[in-house]
Amino acid sequence: MAISKIMVIGAGQMGGGIAQVAAEAGLQVVLNDIDRGFIDKRLSFISGLLDKNIAKGRITAEKKTEILARLIPSTDLKDAAGVDLVIEAATENMALKEKIFRTLDLVAKPGVILASNTSSLPITELAAVTKRPELVIGMHFMNPVPVMKLVEVIRGIATSDDTYARVKELSERMGKVPVEVNDYPGFIANRLLMPMINEAIYCIYEGVADAESIDTVMKLGMAHPMGPLTLADFIGLDTCLAIMEVLYEGFADSKYRPCPLLRKMVKAGWLGKKSGKGFFEYSN
Ligand code: NAD
Repeated sequence: MAISKIMVIGAGQMGGGIAQVAAEAGLQVVLNDIDRGFIDKRLSFISGLLDKNIAKGRITAEKKTEILARLIPSTDLKDAAGVDLVIEAATENMALKEKIFRTLDLVAKPGVILASNTSSLPITELAAVTKRPELVIGMHFMNPVPVMKLVEVIRGIATSDDTYARVKELSERMGKVPVEVNDYPGFIANRLLMPMINEAIYCIYEGVADAESIDTVMKLGMAHPMGPLTLADFIGLDTCLAIMEVLYEGFADSKYRPCPLLRKMVKAGWLGKKSGKGFFEYSN
């Protein structure tokens, strides 16, 4: 089945970015969310980004009109009946995603691939709630989607070679570089990134150095564009803690134990940039 029309579920920061990049690649995109207002807000955000691209001479005004015309709003999951592939990018919650996948399995045409952009939930378990586990796969895009080239393509235990090959091809068509990863907690990106962030937090906890010094070491010593603690603030400390819990529980290994300071900051509501305070202060 040729892929010309897809559905993206969730018009949040990730779903919006995925929908934009897919529409730029010439695909028709049904953009689904629970509230029409969320979709309209996202479409005007995308329109603003495209205006910036026009101003920089990257695209023409006609191209912008074409891209926006390919984005079709939807508040009904039954609209999945008319698409060739679905990418789910709704809120990170297993019960919610399982419900969406059960519905998609009933309404999507046979043979249609169901992909999830989850950062940390098991693809194999999502696949198991459907009657098409060979067609379920992870497409883990990075934030911001229009800028970041990587897609981790996550194979569940039952994902077929054909499903993987078609999703790899789609990722390339969307201008991304796919990397094949098997389904284990944290995949590759978060399995490497989050323990580094967690260890940086342990360094503060144990009084090895302050946040500024730790970030400086990684920026100037390792040529990282941003220090791990600034990055943690941008990701959200609640999200970092949730992913560490997935690694800790998933591997049942103490090396992934979330730092007590991370837990304490999340309990205090110090969530990083979005709350105005994390390892650094933000005026927002
Ligand atoms: P977000 O909160 O910005 O957006 C989530 C959207 O899903 C919201 O608009 C919400 O209304 C919608 N939604 C909730 N329930 C729904 C339902 N039943 N049907 C349709 N839409 C529904 O979140 P986000 O940051 O875009 O994250 C979305 C997914 O992408 C999560 O699984 C997350 O783990 C993953 N992800 C996030 C990042 C990141 O950096 N933010 C990176 C990679 C992957």
